[in-house]
Amino acid sequence: MVTANGNLNPHEDYRMLLKRIDWNDYERWIEEGRYQAYAKDMFNYAKKFCNLLFSNEFVEMPNCRRKINIQNALANLTRYLDIKFETNLHDSFLQWVGRKGLKWNLGKKPDLYALGQRVKIEDMIKRLKELPESLKLFGAFALVSGLRTLESVAAFNNHDKLCENGIMELFWDRRCKKANAIYCHPLIHERLSKSDFKMSDSKLYKAFRSRLSVQDS
Ligand SMILES: [Zn+2]
Repeated sequence: MVTANGNLNPHEDYRMLLKRIDWNDYERWIEEGRYQAYAKDMFNYAKKFCNLLFSNEFVEMPNCRRKINIQNALANLTRYLDIKFETNLHDSFLQWVGRKGLKWNLGKKPDLYALGQRVKIEDMIKRLKELPESLKLFGAFALVSGLRTLESVAAFNNHDKLCENGIMELFWDRRCKKANAIYCHPLIHERLSKSDFKMSDSKLYKAFRSRLSVQDS
């Protein structure tokens, strides 16, 4: 199908280019400047599911983690094709995703800001006081630092390395946040310096998750 300006329809364009992809070259491209595990996933998904781009089969897949991964892999692949073949597939793909109402995330995350507005600080402190000493210390640190949960775990566990004169400088490799500088309260700092307790996912889940859901109900 040829569009008004004489170009091939992007979907047809894409089918033809799929046959010309040098997958070894694509693998080198996707690995450049990306985390290895992420690049490997993106490569495998793209190679396996490239036929799903612009397809009804993809649109009809239930929204799940795998679908989001495939969609991200296809977004990367179209970006590469644009560079190699001077196409405009990446934009076409983004528009197509929008037209079909596809989501870029699972949309199940609770609105923590809204939840935060409903939880009173007094209640939070009361609950913190009920925890064993080491967990209480973590809870106080997380509360005072204002960091996100997993950020506060990383900062807490590396406090001795990162805290200098009560200031912690943290660097993240994320699209929306690159760095934080947080104030480490002297009382918390003193206790942290004496503690060798490390927070883990399982301790975090047991001690804090259930309490959050109780307050959320
Ligand atoms: Zn400190």
